[in-house]
Amino acid sequence: DYDVQEKIDYVFKVVVIGDSAVGKTQILSRFAKNEFCFDSKSTIGVEFQTRTVTINGKVIKAQIWDTAGQERYRAVTSAYYRGALGAMLVYDITKRQSFDHVARWVEELRAHADSSIVIMLVGNKADLVDQRMVPTEDAVEFAEDQGLFFSETSALSGDNVESAFLKLLEEINRVVS
Ligand code: GDP
Repeated sequence: DYDVQEKIDYVFKVVVIGDSAVGKTQILSRFAKNEFCFDSKSTIGVEFQTRTVTINGKVIKAQIWDTAGQERYRAVTSAYYRGALGAMLVYDITKRQSFDHVARWVEELRAHADSSIVIMLVGNKADLVDQRMVPTEDAVEFAEDQGLFFSETSALSGDNVESAFLKLLEEINRVVS
């Protein structure tokens, strides 16, 4: 039966953070269900989605948490970060402000999450090429400076979403093994 999973070696908790409307929920459903929902909102109530993948022979269940809109009220609590081994820190390449706030989100992670947390900086909405306000080089520089992994994605087209998550899970696997 397709639904009968093999033995799961690890469960990795991953949190998705970043400003409101950058595409966190869409990135998550793209990875977990390979879906993009055109009339989404609001995700209030949904806490996490899972997807099981095999990495280096290990069966890993990724448990990926969505802020469910809490970030709008700056109400993301330490409970959200508790036990998280990875973070997807998302900004919108068409919204400079969402990139300017990334430093604040990194501080938030450093304050509330485990110090060994693996962070992937994600510039989403890469399909909106004509509206780009954040040059790739700015993000590459910031990521190198802060020791983050970096990718530009489109939850709409699906570009790089899978590879960004797999890279993050691979690095977590390296840290825990
Ligand atoms: P969240 O508040 O960060 O969870 O953002 P959502 O996932 O709700 O997305 C906010 C808006 O951006 C919605 O209207 C989405 O349809 C849109 N959106 C999300 N990802 C993309 C993307 O990759 N490309 C484009 N063009 N729109 C996107």
